Amino acid sequence: MTNPPALPGYDIVVLGGGVAGCVLAARLSENPGRSVCLVEAGPDYGSRQESWPQKVRNARALPRDDVWERHGAFYRIRARILGGSSCINGAWNTWGSHADHAEWTRAGGERWSATALEPYRLRAMERMALRTVPDGELSLWASSALLAARDLGHEEVDMAVPGRPGSGRPLLNAVDGLRFNAAFAYLDPATRCRPNLTILSDVLVDRLDIRAGRVHGVHAVLDGRHVTLRAGTYVLACGTFGSPTVLMRSGVGPAAHLEENGIRCAADLPGVGGNLSDQPGVFVPLSPTPELNAALAAKDAEGELYVSRMLIRAASEYCPDGAWDLHLLPTAGPPLFGGLPPGQYEAGVSAFLMKPASRGQVRLRSADPAEPPEIVPAFLTDPGGRDIAVLRSGLEKAQELASAMKSLAAPGGGAPAHALPDADLRSRVGAYWHPVGTCAMGPADDPRTVVDGQGAVHGVAGLRIADASVLPTVPAANTQWPVLAVAEMLAETLGA
Ligand SMILES: Cc1cc2nc3c(=O)[nH]c(=O)nc-3n(C[C@H](O)[C@H](O)[C@H](O)COP(=O)(O)OP(=O)(O)OC[C@H]3O[C@@H](n4cnc5c(N)ncnc54)[C@H](O)[C@@H]3O)c2cc1C
Repeated sequence: MTNPPALPGYDIVVLGGGVAGCVLAARLSENPGRSVCLVEAGPDYGSRQESWPQKVRNARALPRDDVWERHGAFYRIRARILGGSSCINGAWNTWGSHADHAEWTRAGGERWSATALEPYRLRAMERMALRTVPDGELSLWASSALLAARDLGHEEVDMAVPGRPGSGRPLLNAVDGLRFNAAFAYLDPATRCRPNLTILSDVLVDRLDIRAGRVHGVHAVLDGRHVTLRAGTYVLACGTFGSPTVLMRSGVGPAAHLEENGIRCAADLPGVGGNLSDQPGVFVPLSPTPELNAALAAKDAEGELYVSRMLIRAASEYCPDGAWDLHLLPTAGPPLFGGLPPGQYEAGVSAFLMKPASRGQVRLRSADPAEPPEIVPAFLTDPGGRDIAVLRSGLEKAQELASAMKSLAAPGGGAPAHALPDADLRSRVGAYWHPVGTCAMGPADDPRTVVDGQGAVHGVAGLRIADASVLPTVPAANTQWPVLAVAEMLAETLGA
């Protein structure tokens, strides 16, 4: 393609209209003197919440229509829609530990400490209307789990602050069963009316035009036409799988890998696409008693059945003091995959490994933006075997909780999950869907890193990244709220 038509220029172009992208577009366009363009590959269902598909608004389900790959492996699921993965996720919000902030501060400086991020944590909480799970949304299973957890010594804690291990209820960005996504929260009708904000939906970002260490434009595909967008500053917010692929197509990444794909190297940054970190977990299935099935059916009939509404932050023997490296999640309701006869439900407890040592990667299959990348999650592959040991510890704790609730659900037959051989455990691994780290923040002299503490890409002028991909380590939390807060903070470093 030579000289594609150019659209009008902007002060800032934000690429990717997901969780981070919505925050950035809203904050950066608060200054009426700055023109901002937000570019999203998926659809925008408009400023009226009522006109969005019911499936996207329904917080009881995990919708799968507006995604990048309908039939990809479970760990590849990610949204392709304005609002990003906040439109298809569990709407759960928790915060990580002080140990997480210490890791981020070492990589990016003081603005990543718990104290410095506090105003942004609060701002995101308010804008997303986060509120703790109300009593009415607790099923018999969830309320029994809260009591059982306390009896087992997991004292009740506030899940909204960098506190201590314990049990409690998460915060939700959902009210009365309706998911309040980042597009609703940040791109409300008043924001959308700003004359200095342009939202381009259904536009696929192909690559950045980088010459002599500076970005000169973005090549994108709009209605099947190739177009170029120009701006003073370019902010990538295509997420943990999208941002490294755009960078690599633009010639920023590991030189040998770029060459394999026939891409001219503009900046040899070996860290791009590496360091992929997500939280694997294993579900321990139980058999609900008739009493539990009846209670779940009654909630279902009221339209108030939610599969999971409490969690335990637990520490394995490998965890630093005061932190936690496990989430235990009791669940009961319709199965996530497959179906059951009417009046019957699935119950169990999952253990998720929150601070994995294993690292995977995202790689290009070709320079074609329409081709999905290769994603290798590399769950439980750390050479020291720590991850599988922590997971076993979590499964033992999950078993303890299940035993304390055996009057409502009986254990299945066979060996307990924590005693399964490694291969069996690996075959049962699922994901919490919190991938981070593929454009990791850190000092420029560390070849594993891609951006500095302000999200500026090492060695490329005029280019920032401000999404989940910059987190060098995954927090011991669900990632949506941290990503919102980080995007709020990084928007300010851009002058918002
Ligand atoms: C199934 C699922 C369940 C989850 N559950 C929870 C939960 O309950 N609680 C929680 O805290 N977190 C949850 N998460 C994680 C949370 O949603 C993410 O951490 C968060 O969305 C990350 O924000 P982001 O802006 O980095 O990426 P995203 O929100 O994924 O946004 C990236 C955006 O960039 C766009 N994009 C990508 N490539 C291109 C391109 N080439 N051109 C144009 N646009 C592009 C995408 O379409 C997307 O809209 C879940 C995630 C998934 C997938």
